[in-house]
Amino acid sequence: MDKIGVVFGGSRGIGKAVAQLMAQKGYRLAIASRNLEAARAAAGDLEGNHLGLCCDVSKEQDVQNAFEEVEKNLGRVKFLVNAAGISRDALLLRTKTEDMVSQLHTNLLGSMLTCKAALKHMIQQQGGSIVNIGSIVGLKGNPGQCVYSASKEGLVGFSRSLAKEVARKKIRVNVVAPGFIYTDMTKDMKEEQLKKNIPLGRFGEPKDVAHAVVFLLETPYITGHVLVVDGGLQLAL
Ligand code: NDP
Repeated sequence: MDKIGVVFGGSRGIGKAVAQLMAQKGYRLAIASRNLEAARAAAGDLEGNHLGLCCDVSKEQDVQNAFEEVEKNLGRVKFLVNAAGISRDALLLRTKTEDMVSQLHTNLLGSMLTCKAALKHMIQQQGGSIVNIGSIVGLKGNPGQCVYSASKEGLVGFSRSLAKEVARKKIRVNVVAPGFIYTDMTKDMKEEQLKKNIPLGRFGEPKDVAHAVVFLLETPYITGHVLVVDGGLQLAL
């Protein structure tokens, strides 16, 4: 039977690397992002026949449409990866309310909506696996990232509770919490300065995170776990 998966935020960065590894391992995938062209291009670059979708995860109707389209074109979803995320870094006193809302809606509400929609597919198939991408910042906190950090810590609480809620349905829910990874999100960061705190001495590559995501997707006896992928950064914080 086909292993059908959806990667939200799969057009770039970490999500794209996850999709590449999943495709190499024989999954049939839908890649979703707000930019349809980018999602289609990312799906087209993968080995095999995959689908590119336009979906803003913070909009319930978009999420419902995405799952309907996946079911119509590929079949019911058994594997879900939530890699869609944004950061709007600023000290709290300078953070606009609209930036608070957009981070919470994309990073936290978005994953709640996609998980809810995916559960219906997974329950019908008597099993499934979800990996949500959190952040080391959600576990340790970081000045200038109060709201982002809250969205990511919220995602951990959500994932652990959902893991307990759906374990009896043979659905697993885990979190991967990356440190600093080379993507568009980190391209303006002061790398030389930040690298000094990373025991392994470098930022991670998206594929470093992808291996952890696929490990959790596929390991049958792990649920409710938070796997940190940070080159040892948390040891220094
Ligand atoms: P990128 O900015 O490289 O990619 C983000 C992806 O999410 C893109 O595909 C983007 O496509 C998509 N996206 C953003 N907003 C939405 C939305 N509302 N609906 C659907 N898709 C959306 O980021 P990264 O790859 O770096 O980040 C991936 C995840 O990893 C995020 O959750 C991030 O918070 C987390 N993370 C990243 C770290 C890093 O160092 N890079 C560290 C820790 C965690 P589009 O813009 O077309 O919608």
